[in-house]
Amino acid sequence: MDIYLKSNHEIEIIRANGAILAEIFDRLSEFIKPGVATVEINRLVEDILAKRGAVPSFLGYRGFPAAACISVNEVVVHGIPSSRKLVEGDIVSVDIGSFRNGFHADAARTYPVGNITDEAAKLIKAAEDAFISGSKKAVHGGRLSDISNAVQLTAEAAGFGVVRDMLGHGIGRSVHEDPPIPNYGPAGRGPKLRNGMVLAIEPMLTMGDYHIATSKLDGWSCSTKDGKISSHYENTVAITREGLQILTA
Ligand code: MG
Repeated sequence: MDIYLKSNHEIEIIRANGAILAEIFDRLSEFIKPGVATVEINRLVEDILAKRGAVPSFLGYRGFPAAACISVNEVVVHGIPSSRKLVEGDIVSVDIGSFRNGFHADAARTYPVGNITDEAAKLIKAAEDAFISGSKKAVHGGRLSDISNAVQLTAEAAGFGVVRDMLGHGIGRSVHEDPPIPNYGPAGRGPKLRNGMVLAIEPMLTMGDYHIATSKLDGWSCSTKDGKISSHYENTVAITREGLQILTA
C-alpha cells in the first residue's frame, strides 16, 4: 500500500478546497426543495467551484459525466444529475470533489426534500453519527479498521445496514489514494494510522439490506437491491499532531 503522508502546507491546501465544499453544502441546504431538478443542483455546484477557481474532481473521472454525484432515495452513490425533479419526501445525497492547487477534497451530504418520514430523518442522522464515531478512531497510533468497526457499530446500533461494496479512501494529489477504508469489520487490523494521513471517511447506510447493484442502464448509479432508501455522509479529515481535523466542514 502506498500511503502518502501530507505536510502541514499540503493539509492547508486541502482545507482551502474543503472550505469550498462546505460553502456549497450550505447553499444546497437552502436550494434543495420539491420541484428542483437534480441537474440544477449540479449546475449550482459547478458554478460555485468555478467561481472559487476549483475543478470538479469527478467530472470525467473514469468517464463520469457531471461535477456532482447526485443520488436520490434508493440510489446509494454515483447518481447522474438529470431532469428528474425532486418531490416532497425524497432524500437526496450530493457527493462532490474539489480540485485546486494540486490537491483534492471530497465530501457528501444527504438532504431531506420538504417533509420526510421520521425513519428517513433517522437514516440521514445515523450516517453522520457513524462518520463521527469513525472519525474519533482516526488517531495517530491506531489501526485503520478501528475506523471501520466504529462506523459499523454505530450504523447497526441505529438499526440500519451499512454498505460493504463502496469504501472510503485516502485522498491528496489523487481523489482516490490508499488506504481503502471499509465501513465494516473487526477493529485492530490494517495499516497503522499516522500523523499526516488525509482520509475521506464516508459511511453509506441503508434502511434495509445493505446489498447494492450498479445500474445496467447508465452504468454508474448504485442502488440498494431491495429498493429501500439510503443515506451518505462524508468528510475529508487529517490526522495531525494537534489531533483530528475535519477539512470539509
Ligand atoms: Mg469519497
